[in-house]
Amino acid sequence: MARALEPQRRLLAVYTGGTIGMRSEQGVLVPGSGLAAVLRSLPMFHDEEYARACGLPEDTLVLPPAIPDQRVIYTVLECQPLFDSSDMTITEWVQIAQTIERHYGQYDGFVVIHGTDTMAFAASVLSFVLENLQKTVILTGAQVPIHALWNDSRENLLGALLMAGQYVIPEVCLFFQNQLFRGNRVTKVDSRRFAAFCSPHLPPLAVMGTDVTINWELVRKARGKAQLVVHSSMERDVGLLRLYPGIPAALAMAGAGIVSGFDMTSEAALAKLSYVLGHPGLTPDDRKELLARDLRGEMTLPTGAERRPSLSSSALGRGLTQLLTLSQGQTSQRPQGAALSTQEADAIREALVPSLACAAAHAGDLEVLQALGDLGSDLSLESFNGQTPLHAAARGGQPGAVTMLLRRGVDVDPRDEDGLSPLLLAVKGRHRGVIELLRAAGACLSLQELEDAGTELCRLAARADLEGLQSWWQAGADLSSPGYDGRSALLVAEAAGNLEVVTFLQNLKGGAGVQAPGPATL
Ligand code: ASP
Repeated sequence: MARALEPQRRLLAVYTGGTIGMRSEQGVLVPGSGLAAVLRSLPMFHDEEYARACGLPEDTLVLPPAIPDQRVIYTVLECQPLFDSSDMTITEWVQIAQTIERHYGQYDGFVVIHGTDTMAFAASVLSFVLENLQKTVILTGAQVPIHALWNDSRENLLGALLMAGQYVIPEVCLFFQNQLFRGNRVTKVDSRRFAAFCSPHLPPLAVMGTDVTINWELVRKARGKAQLVVHSSMERDVGLLRLYPGIPAALAMAGAGIVSGFDMTSEAALAKLSYVLGHPGLTPDDRKELLARDLRGEMTLPTGAERRPSLSSSALGRGLTQLLTLSQGQTSQRPQGAALSTQEADAIREALVPSLACAAAHAGDLEVLQALGDLGSDLSLESFNGQTPLHAAARGGQPGAVTMLLRRGVDVDPRDEDGLSPLLLAVKGRHRGVIELLRAAGACLSLQELEDAGTELCRLAARADLEGLQSWWQAGADLSSPGYDGRSALLVAEAAGNLEVVTFLQNLKGGAGVQAPGPATL
């Protein structure tokens, strides 16, 4: 996803209207046609000599070289009619998406020239309508027409063409005043200053100064080779209601159901609603779940909400459970269109149960774990790397899942393909509650694990990692075990001046002993 290095990059510039090309008619600014001809006359937008040498058609222009050995060639597609963007609706934005879809194979990237008044709405809608983008799509516009002496049209359009021509940023973006924003994060904040847009909750994806700085860590990754999908069935019947102090409950339609939008802009929220409600074939629960998910980078979920979605609440989880039920002879629950024999369903069930159980155990999804157990599934089956659901629950630090699995009688000390036990995984994750449960059920570190512990203990002592040392101690490790150079954790902590660790280790030596407590009984 770095700078694209092909000698020629081809863009489609879709000109929808807006101030950029506006002309004055009887003192009133109206969208002006013939933008390609205007650009052709400006040397910063067109290298006539190169175009003639390549035999480029009339509607196709070429930028002068920005970097050696690369040219950005662009074709201007002028919409009929041209719009003042305040007259545009979802219908026109879906048409823009369909235009991009029709030409998707022929071009390396797309620039949409749009009026600023509704550009944030347009960018939000396009971000939901266009799924699985592998190419850059940039909306841009201007506050002052390109014909004016002092204007922002030229630098905005040139910047957008250069960004789309030189970089693969597979998102719907908005370029304005040297900044490239994620399209569904922006809002228009000024109608007079050139800096018309801001992205209140996400820094720009890129900034053009003397150099171009791209914040690659923010740029969304393309999903493999997934095909572009254009979702044209957007619900039009959506609205915005602003909350204010003292708003009557009836107006807030209390009871209609509220799904948090976190830090979404109102433009993105409206577009998302339109997309989710217009998506055919979903239940109300599916729609609620989609609304709560970050679909196109439009919102930042708080850390707690980023946990894995519950398998039981997802359509996938329910579908799989239904599928698994088939092999239990409950053919009446067979979903419409499913035509699996019992043997086929059994084979699928056997293949899916270990991974499903591990995923549920890791996420602490007791409902799914319980459902799998109730189906008669063996909850000690190993997944692809030899890990059992107990390994997964220990790694995920899920005491509830550990307790449920132990109550179902699974082996407390299984080893995966690398010889790791659930107890060791819990120690590495510092999951003290899980360590306690496993020890109480009789889990022990192996001789090899105990032998290897010395070096790890010294490393923890050097970093003053008291919690790590306590976890090992709780799991039964001998904290006086020497590291690879023969020194104990205590010596290392003393040398490093880690007093808290020194005190902890000395107390163990003097009182409870450096040797951990033995396993108790459950
Ligand atoms: N009214 C114009 C439009 O949105 C304003 C602009 O382009 O800045 O089309």
